[in-house]
Amino acid sequence: MIDFEDSESEKILRQTVRDFAKKEIAPHARKWDEEETFPAALIPKLAELGLMGMKAPEELGGAGMSTQDVAIVIEELARVDGSVALTVAAHNGLGTGHILLAGNDAQKKKYVPNLATGKWLGAWGLTEPSSGSDAAGAKTRAVKQGDKWILNGSKTFITQGSVGDVYVIIASTSPEKKQHGLTAFILEKGQKGFTVGKHIEKMGCHASDTSELNFADVEVPEENQLGELDHGFIDTLQILDRGRISIASMALGLGLGALEAARNYARERKQFGRAIADNQAIQFMLADSATELEAAKLLIKRAAWLSDQGRRHTYESSTAKLWAAQAGMRACDRAIQIHGGYGYTREFPVERALRDCKLCEIGEGTNEVQRMVIARHLIGRA
Ligand SMILES: Cc1cc2nc3c(=O)[nH]c(=O)nc-3n(C[C@H](O)[C@H](O)[C@H](O)COP(=O)(O)OP(=O)(O)OC[C@H]3O[C@@H](n4cnc5c(N)ncnc54)[C@H](O)[C@@H]3O)c2cc1C
Repeated sequence: MIDFEDSESEKILRQTVRDFAKKEIAPHARKWDEEETFPAALIPKLAELGLMGMKAPEELGGAGMSTQDVAIVIEELARVDGSVALTVAAHNGLGTGHILLAGNDAQKKKYVPNLATGKWLGAWGLTEPSSGSDAAGAKTRAVKQGDKWILNGSKTFITQGSVGDVYVIIASTSPEKKQHGLTAFILEKGQKGFTVGKHIEKMGCHASDTSELNFADVEVPEENQLGELDHGFIDTLQILDRGRISIASMALGLGLGALEAARNYARERKQFGRAIADNQAIQFMLADSATELEAAKLLIKRAAWLSDQGRRHTYESSTAKLWAAQAGMRACDRAIQIHGGYGYTREFPVERALRDCKLCEIGEGTNEVQRMVIARHLIGRA
């Protein structure tokens, strides 16, 4: 039976991450954002709490958490800072997640312990300059030569692109088979021919690294083929089903952080001789944000619960992400409105929250892509 409350262990996890975020992230988040600094020194601290190997089993150095746990962690980090939430979500869910999903024992033993303990950062490359929503159109090509694969092409918008150590790259191995001709490969930083391209300057999530990657005749040993040949897209869809729960949780956390800031501000700010919170117009904005975020929380809980049951949750992840991203954006927007002119300044964290939250409507499938996934299920074309 599903419980609408956090279990005892979930309560402890939530409080631990909340305390950590308040102490280790909140005091620096504005500076990291303004300086566009990747907070490398935070990684060992996140690892100490088990947050760099959340779903990895304990025997591989991980914390063996459930998807519900992961959702709580991402939500709590995002309440304070979207960039750190995105870094942790991408490292765990995408890079490390793909190795855990499709890796053989040797690959897991070689890569997961160092990823799970934060010694290495994981990245995941699907998107290319000419293929985003239509990810199956990836042009990065891998050709087999003897016992090696030779990779040529490029990726863009890669989280941890320039600070990563281990990269899962999706490449076309059988172009004539389109999406059924993609395969995943594990690459390591510093491999000959593998270079980091442009650092991408973004609207938000400034403290999360986003870069282009280039591959020029990169030799990948055949033991670094991840998963079955031509099975990369099927595995990718599973990675995205789970990843979307994290992005939904990120939007929820950003929205909740903004709602809390707006509520506190509304109680303190006085105009016309009384707190602005005493006006029904302000109360209704708070009430709408609270209601929409409560709904997001339930959708996320359902998708995470199905994931933990080992059941398919494509539809549920997409509904959770679509709703949470929009609810988060609206909550951030209302929070700025409640702050008035101060909300439009960098002095208050709500403007950063809105910039960070916009990513949740784009990354791991735009709102339109989520609607496509949901509609395909409705009309029986999934
Ligand atoms: C900060 C950030 C981090 C990211 N991290 C990663 C990462 O780590 N790894 C990775 O592989 N990728 C990453 N991405 C890429 C992200 O997943 C893509 O940006 C996203 O999937 C959209 O692709 P696109 O940008 O090419 O947009 P496009 O696909 O070009 O879409 C442009 C617009 O057209 C719409 N559109 C496209 N097709 C349709 C259609 N059929 N019907 C209706 N509307 C449509 C889209 O919804 C969008 O509004 C990241 C992106 C950002 C911004």
